[in-house]
Amino acid sequence: MRKLQSAHGGSDPGKIGLNNLLEKDINLAITEKVKKCLEKEKITAELTRKEDKGLGTTGDGSKKTEDMQARVKMINETKPVLTVSIHQNSYEDPEIHGAQVFYYSHSREGEAVAKILQESLQEIDPENHRRAKANETYYLLRRTKVPTVIVECGFLTNPEEAEKLSGEEYQEQVAEAVAKGIAKCLEYLNEYGN
Ligand SMILES: [Zn+2]
Repeated sequence: MRKLQSAHGGSDPGKIGLNNLLEKDINLAITEKVKKCLEKEKITAELTRKEDKGLGTTGDGSKKTEDMQARVKMINETKPVLTVSIHQNSYEDPEIHGAQVFYYSHSREGEAVAKILQESLQEIDPENHRRAKANETYYLLRRTKVPTVIVECGFLTNPEEAEKLSGEEYQEQVAEAVAKGIAKCLEYLNEYGN
């Protein structure tokens, strides 16, 4: 089983992009598409959030820490082979664009799968020269006991990318790239994982 995580939700919109695009909405749209793509390949995926809600006790995402704790608890209890958390990025410089995958600095498996996913995402955007990047501090990466990566699909602050990410067609392309990457990650973990 793979855990797909559509980040934020409820009163936590995540990043807010151009034209008031809300990260949480794009996350959920892409995550649902990834799940469908995986199902076609007979890969089971479970979503941490299926609707526009956070996971804290209030259910409205107002308690960020609780929301994150609930997600981590769910992941550590169900122990999926891999967790992929779907996000959209933002930055002050509107020129900055491109998908990027993050992994926990101390996870060899995380690093390997992040590189596989980064490569897969590169295929839909040859202009994107970002590399999978290590991170030491993200709560989700630090606290989950299974290989976990954060996929930032693109920048909502880049006009062109924001436009693409809000459209069905590009969301579909991103989802397919992520799903293809996940399939390769699973092969990798199956062979070299713990
Ligand atoms: Zn986010």
